[in-house]
This record gives sequence, structure tokens and C-alpha cells, in this order.
Amino acid sequence: MARTVYDKPLVYLDNAATTQKPRCVVEAMVDEYYNVNANVHRGVHFLSQKATDLHEASRETVKQFINAENSSEILFTRGTTESINLLAYCFGEAFMEAGDEILVSEMEHHSDIVPWQLIAERKGLKIKVIPITDNGEIDIKAYNKLLDESERLKIVCVTHVSNVLGTVNPVKTMVESAHRHGVPVLVDGAQSTPHFKVDMQELDCDFFAFSGHKIYGPTGVGVLYGKERWLDKLPPYQGGGEMIKRVSFEKTTFNDLPYKFEAGTPDYIGTHALATALDYVSAIGFDTIKAHELMLTDYALQQLRTIDNIQIYGHPEGGNGDAVISFNIKGIHHLDLGTLLDRLGIAIRTGHHCAEPLMHRLGTEGTVRVSFALYNTKEEVDSLIAGIRRVAKMF
Ligand code: PMP
Repeated sequence: MARTVYDKPLVYLDNAATTQKPRCVVEAMVDEYYNVNANVHRGVHFLSQKATDLHEASRETVKQFINAENSSEILFTRGTTESINLLAYCFGEAFMEAGDEILVSEMEHHSDIVPWQLIAERKGLKIKVIPITDNGEIDIKAYNKLLDESERLKIVCVTHVSNVLGTVNPVKTMVESAHRHGVPVLVDGAQSTPHFKVDMQELDCDFFAFSGHKIYGPTGVGVLYGKERWLDKLPPYQGGGEMIKRVSFEKTTFNDLPYKFEAGTPDYIGTHALATALDYVSAIGFDTIKAHELMLTDYALQQLRTIDNIQIYGHPEGGNGDAVISFNIKGIHHLDLGTLLDRLGIAIRTGHHCAEPLMHRLGTEGTVRVSFALYNTKEEVDSLIAGIRRVAKMF
């Protein structure tokens, strides 16, 4: 990376938090602001129609990117967190009553826990937890048992890839099992969409959420995918703007999908930039991305394992780990390691990674986390390892 920090070349290994943006994404935003900026959907004038075309073409790009059946199943949101809040609120309102159950995994991000707790609190629902194994994988036996035992289960919520452990969960089989019990599944795709092809027809999940900024797109825009037959039955989330058909003081009727869920002026600059990012990723291709990131992850794991007193979480031998590695080094607080690496120009993340229940399960209050993107290099892994060795010597 050309950027330097503290006079050192920046080694950016915090991609699970957010990715850096390719030039085409930034330029798409600048170009639209300069040349095509007008509010979408409402204007008959040239610019408004152009901006609307770009916005709706972006929905089509997302639809194709995740292989949804219909572009009306693509709802634009501010990101994964808002997508899950929308779903928890609307699904809870439509389909859940006091005593009903929600299943979430022990490795969920807070964004896939707290929205469910909020609706659970309001409606008297119960949250049950799918445990993980010591290897950092979903305990599938326990999951199936929970499915068998939970008579009032209404939805399963699971992350596709853990933002702490890098574990890729077997969501396709989890969906199959849940569907055998007549239960829909939400997949949190925040950490899978940047790394490998996700396919709604193949996964057959009922809902899928992801964020633009983690896949080289802009901040403030994300997606909630939902099967049409579910979305049709959900009430609106917020009111105002394009989500109505007709409004009177006596009665308001709501717009068709997807607009029913998109109140107010959408982030049309963001959606166009997101589509540009998805096109960028598609042009490189997931075969190339996956191979490169796998090489980096394997190399980093191999090098990290040579460091004294290191504990790496998840990533069992022969396991299915993605481009995220969490670890601790005995005798060095994760925050100290992160701060000292930063001084060497190495950006990694420390703390609980918005997964406090998982930290509890791992028996730690935080970890150091490195996470890769398509632009990282083997030399950057070498810098990380050299940096860790240098810091370790100081303790
Ligand atoms: N789920 C997972 C698995 C994540 O990694 C993140 C981001 N760290 C989120 C949800 C929340 O994403 P956002 O902040 O973009 O809404």
C-alpha cells in the first residue's frame, strides 16, 4: 500500500471491520454527485430519471451477485445491522407471540443478537443459543437437538462466517434442517460476501444480510435479501417517502416490494457505488480472490504457529476457515499488542469484536484479529510476523 503511517508503509489487516475502496468505487460516487445527482423515483426530469435508472440497475446487480430470484427481493438498507434490525422488528411483529423462540448461534456478532433481544423483550419471546465446539465450529448435533426440541421455534439466525474465528458455517445444511421443521433461516453474510460466491438459490435461506463497506463498497449502504413470499407478509419498518401507495389521514396503503421497506430518500449514490464494487469483485472473480486469500490465511497460520505462547482460536487442522484469524499471546494484553503493532504501521483489531458471548465461550475478554482482503500480500504477512516478534521481545 502506498499510504504510510508513522513513516512506515501501512499494512492494513483490519479488513473484516471494513475494506479499503478501489478507485472505481470512489470515482463512481464522485461522478454521480457531479453529473447525475437528483432525488430518485420522484422526478420526471432528466437527472432524476438517470439517477433512478442507476439506483434500480444497482438493485439488479445485487440480485445477480447473490443470485436472488427477483430484484424485488433486494432491500437496500444502511448495512447488515440495519438489515437485521428491520427483519427482527418486522418478522417479530408479523409472526411471533409471547413464548415463541428464536435460535441464534454462540458465535453471532452483536448485530445478530441485540435486535432479536429487543423484539424478544417487547413481545415476551425466548432466545435459545446454538453452542459451538472447542474447535470453534457450530455444534451441529446440538443444533439438530434444539430443532427437534423447540416446539415454538420461529426463526434461526446464524452467521455465514464468524467475524472472530473465520469459521465458515455449514449454512446450507443448517437451512435444510430448519426447513424440515418448517422454520425460516436468516444468514448474516457480512463476512462471507467479500470472500466467496454466495448463491441464494443454492443456500435456500429465507433472509440474507450484508454490508457494502466490507466488500469494497461505500459505508452506509447494505442489503437485506428476503424471499418474496416472506417479505410480502411483513409489515413496513419505517414510514414515509417511497414506501406508500396512497396516504390520507384516515388510511395509508403501502407500496409493493421492495419499496415498502425503503422509507425516505435512499442512499442512491451509495447503491450505485455498491454495484460498482460488486462489478469490480465479479471482474476479478471469486476463484482468484478465494485462492489468494486462502494462500494468505494458510501462510499466516503457519507463521503464527511458530510464535511462542500463541493461542489461535478456531482454524482447526483440515477445518473450513476463512480470511480471519484471532489469537492471543500469553503475557501480552491484546490491546498492548495492537497498539505496539500500530506504531510499526500494522493495522489489526483488538478487543471483543462485537461478539462478547463468543469471547465468554473462548474464555477471554478479547483477542487480536487479523483479516485479509484481495489486495493483501505475503510480504505484509511477513511484516506482521516480524512485528509480533519485535513486540514479544519487549515483554
Ligand atoms: N455481522 C458480522 C458477522 C459482522 O462482522 C459485522 C461487522 N463487523 C456485522 C454483522 C455488522 O455490520 P455493519 O456494522 O456493517 O452493520
